[in-house]
Amino acid sequence: MISPNSDWISCYVGLGSNLTNELGTPAEHLRQAIERLQVHEQIMNVQSSSFYASAPMGPQDQPDFINAVVSFKTRLTPFELLSFCQSLEQRAGRTKLRHWGERSLDVDLLLYGQQQIATPVLTVPHAGISERNFVLIPLAELAPDIIIKGRAISDYAQSQDWTALKRLDL
Ligand code: AMP
Repeated sequence: MISPNSDWISCYVGLGSNLTNELGTPAEHLRQAIERLQVHEQIMNVQSSSFYASAPMGPQDQPDFINAVVSFKTRLTPFELLSFCQSLEQRAGRTKLRHWGERSLDVDLLLYGQQQIATPVLTVPHAGISERNFVLIPLAELAPDIIIKGRAISDYAQSQDWTALKRLDL
């Protein structure tokens, strides 16, 4: 894909999975997504946080999620990147069962450089970024000093309940 961007922009995406299907377990879905980011021609310097287990946010009668945050640089535009994130979800066999429900892979575009984007299909920084422990704690591993709405990520992360997240040895 030819992109109009010539600069490499630092980005962060959040990955989550709590469903095993014929394409893999939750940890495998995350690993495959990371590998697909690594081999994309317009993406470089891919780094992943640790993997964490966290209780589901919506209905409680579903398995715990595995979450991670991934950082990289890209020449894709924000909308091209969103579209690539959605293709990663599709390639993990994602079908939406219910709102806030179980999923084989969720990929959220958390940050795209310093850009603020508010459109019907894309909000950046991601709307839940400053509230969700399963985003803030792995994001703080990679980028503690990034400032969102006047506060550093490490500061947001400190005010989270760290016992709600279990760091996995995967
Ligand atoms: P979800 O069901 O949580 O995966 O939400 C997917 C919808 O959120 C899609 O229709 C996207 O267009 C929209 N969306 C808005 N902002 C973002 C973002 N920063 N990252 C991913 N999806 C987004």
